[in-house]
Amino acid sequence: MKPTQAFYNGTPIAPPSNHPTIEQNMELLDWHPIFTGRCPNCERPIRKTTPPRSHWDCGSCGWRDDSD
Ligand SMILES: [Zn+2]
Repeated sequence: MKPTQAFYNGTPIAPPSNHPTIEQNMELLDWHPIFTGRCPNCERPIRKTTPPRSHWDCGSCGWRDDSD
């Protein structure tokens, strides 16, 4: 189903997206332990694994990334 197209002065306006932009994604990932190597909550180092883990969790404060 297509969202209703909005116009402003005859110019189509893109509907608001529920998907974050790439920039927002990059901003989001900037704090992620996959990049920082640290828990974003208590900043305790989180060890990277090989292959890279898909779920991250902090053994110190219990923070976990279950965004999958
Ligand atoms: Zn933590």
